[in-house]
Amino acid sequence: MTSVLTAPGQSQAGSATMDLSGSARKAWAAVSTRVYLPACSIAGLAAVLVVIGWTHRWGGAAFSQSLTSLRVVIVGPLTLAIIGVFLVTERVWPAQQRPILARGYRHDLLLTVMNVLLVAPLVTALTLSFVDVMRRSAPWIVLPRIGTLPRWGAIALIFVAMDFCNWVAHYANHRFRMLWRFHELHHSQEDMNVLTVFRTHPLIHVSYLIALIPGVVLLANGALSLTMLAIYGGIVAFAHSNTRLGFGPLGRIFVSPNFHRIHHQLDGPQDVNLGFALTIWDQLFHRAVFPTEQTIRTDTGLPGRPLIVEQAGERPRHFAVLGRQLLAPFRSSNDRSTSPSVRSRVYGPNQKISRTDNDGGTRPLEAPQLHLDEVA
Ligand SMILES: [Zn+2]
Ligand SMILES: [Zn+2]
Repeated sequence: MTSVLTAPGQSQAGSATMDLSGSARKAWAAVSTRVYLPACSIAGLAAVLVVIGWTHRWGGAAFSQSLTSLRVVIVGPLTLAIIGVFLVTERVWPAQQRPILARGYRHDLLLTVMNVLLVAPLVTALTLSFVDVMRRSAPWIVLPRIGTLPRWGAIALIFVAMDFCNWVAHYANHRFRMLWRFHELHHSQEDMNVLTVFRTHPLIHVSYLIALIPGVVLLANGALSLTMLAIYGGIVAFAHSNTRLGFGPLGRIFVSPNFHRIHHQLDGPQDVNLGFALTIWDQLFHRAVFPTEQTIRTDTGLPGRPLIVEQAGERPRHFAVLGRQLLAPFRSSNDRSTSPSVRSRVYGPNQKISRTDNDGGTRPLEAPQLHLDEVA
C-alpha cells in the first residue's frame, strides 16, 4: 500500500512551490498576451551571432574595413549615381503620378539613413559571424580551387545561386508568420519608390544570411566584387521604383519595376513574384505573374493597414511612425489590432470597399483576402 502521508514542512514547501509556479505562469501569460514571443527568437538569434562573432574576433576579418565596404555598396559613388539615374527615370516614366516629396518617399529616405548609420554595423556583424561559424563548423563546405572553372564562371555561379537563396528566404518571409512580422514593414509602402529597397526591419537580415552560402562555397574560385554587389543592389532597388517599365523580352529574365509591383499589390496575393534580380525562380515554382497594361498602375500596401504607416493620419509623424514600425513585430496581434493609430479600415469577410483611384474616381474592391491568412 502506498503511503500518502507527508511531513507538515513538506506540504508547506509544496504549496509555496505551487504558488511560485502559479505566479510564474501568470507572469508568463501576461507577457505572452503583450509580446509576440516568436519574434524575440529572431532577435535572440541575432544577439547570439553578434556575441559569437565578437568573441571570435569576427573570424580574423577587419570589422571596420568590412563595414566601410558595406557602406560603399549601399551609398558609394556608383550606388548614388545609379540611384540618381533611377530617381530621374521615376519622374520621366512614372507608373503613378505623385508629388516629388510624397510622404512615402520621405519615410523611405529616413529608413535609408537609418540603414547607413545604424543597420550597416549590425549587418556587418551578422555577416562576419555567420561566415565564421559556417567555416568553422563545416569547413568542408568551402570547395577547393576547381581548375576547369574560370573565375568569371564562379562569379556568375555565385550571382545566380545567391539570387536563388534570396528567393528562398523571401518565400520563407511570406510563409512563416514569425518572419512575416519583420517583412511586413517592407510591404506597407503605398508610395513605392527606389528607396523602398531600404524599407526593411533591421532584424529581417537574419533570414537572408543563407544568401552568403554560395559565396563561401566558391570562395577559392572567385568572389563578387563591391562593384558587382552595387549593381545587384541597383537591380533590386530599381525593381521598387515607381517606373512604368517592364524591360520587354528581358523582363522574362530580369525583375522589372512592373513585375515587382505585382508582389506589393494591395488587392491580390503577395506571395508571387518573389524574385530579387531574376524571374526564373518564380517561373520554376509557378509563382510568376507577368505584368499587363492593367497591373502597371496597381496600388500597393497592406489591406486594412495592420501596420501603422506614414500615410495615415493628419501629419506623417515620421519618427514616431518609424519607432512603432520597428517595435511592431514584437507586439501581440491583440495589442496591435486595438492600437488607436492603426487606421480602422479593417474589412469584414464579405464587405465591399472602395478606394479613391489616382484619377480621382473610386473603384470597388473586393474585401481583400488577407494575405496573413496564408502565413503559417
Ligand atoms: Zn515580400
Ligand atoms: Zn519589394
